[in-house]
Amino acid sequence: MAKKKRIRKKRQEEQKGLVQPRRQTAEAIARALAQLPVNETAQWLRQTAVLHMQQQGGNRHTLQALGQGAGHALGVQLDEEPTLDPDAPLSTEGLAIEDRALPGHGDLGPVAAVQRQNGAPPPAAPARPAATINLTVNPPQIARLPEATIAANHGRANVAGWTTPVYNIQPAARTANSVTLNVTLDFRIELATEFTDGRLDILRDHEQAHVIIGERVARRHLVNGLDKGLEALPNFSSIPPMQAAIRKAVNNFVRDEGAESQAYDTADYPRMREAYFGLRAPLPDLAAASPTIQEMVDATNDFIGHASAINSSEPENPDLLRLAAAMRQARINLSQTDLPRLQYNPEFKLMIESCRGMLNVLVDSVAEAERPFLVDLLLILDSFEWQAAP
Ligand SMILES: [Zn+2]
Repeated sequence: MAKKKRIRKKRQEEQKGLVQPRRQTAEAIARALAQLPVNETAQWLRQTAVLHMQQQGGNRHTLQALGQGAGHALGVQLDEEPTLDPDAPLSTEGLAIEDRALPGHGDLGPVAAVQRQNGAPPPAAPARPAATINLTVNPPQIARLPEATIAANHGRANVAGWTTPVYNIQPAARTANSVTLNVTLDFRIELATEFTDGRLDILRDHEQAHVIIGERVARRHLVNGLDKGLEALPNFSSIPPMQAAIRKAVNNFVRDEGAESQAYDTADYPRMREAYFGLRAPLPDLAAASPTIQEMVDATNDFIGHASAINSSEPENPDLLRLAAAMRQARINLSQTDLPRLQYNPEFKLMIESCRGMLNVLVDSVAEAERPFLVDLLLILDSFEWQAAP
């Protein structure tokens, strides 16, 4: 009986971590844990091992043992008391992106949270840690520089424009349960001073797509991906796993932004070549070189000629609708080479503008049944304005 009592007492002391007979086992598990690869099976093993250690030695013991090897990986910061108020403000030092001194460790995803064993549940705390990421995208800053300067800035010959995304991540607040990060995205666009008027329009429009790509990829990785990566951590008590999540998000952002910009350039350079060509060439020359451009020019001229002669008191205009349909068909018939040649051609742009002016007036005066056809034609005219859709 006395022996049983002693054993029970010893067990209780072990539970409280007062004696350490099982420390060696726990340390061995912790060492093994630290060497596990980062994959799902290893994660399951890790979770099981941590639970096992907790059952055997209690939390304090588990924390101490994990401190030998896997503490950072498990998001356990040993110099912070684990019973700390999860909503108490913690330092955000080390979470800014400027800090490059990151330990090389991938993210492990959710790991068994170390829970208190002695009775009372922890104070009301969210079941999962919550990350809030605010993204601010500033309007691009445009710098006009000589072509040679832009080329020298980026170590590349023959570049007339360059868009550089600049990202910045600053921590705003941190507790064990919540973290707020402010991500700012800026763009510096360099445009050659040698480019003016229509050439400048083509160049600027192209660069604008890089801004769209940068913002899209930033939302994917610096907002959604980072949010997911941080919320996969058991808590925010420890800085290094958070730094690893930030670094992973940044790496993904840099990689995808580079790849998608490259793919966009490859696809868009042929279009730009046609646009530059169409800008300089007289419209009759473009039409002579392409039957579909000729069809587009003729259909537009026919429509303008008819529309300008319309008496606004006429209730119905079957010819107008026929000519609108012809324009619509001509637009559909334009090839991928035709369209960029027309989009920046000054003469064609003028025709489209006068056509738009007439349509805007006619839309209000024609019969109700005819209106949708004219609205449709207005949308077709809009398609002659090149839109970046990277
Ligand atoms: Zn580009």
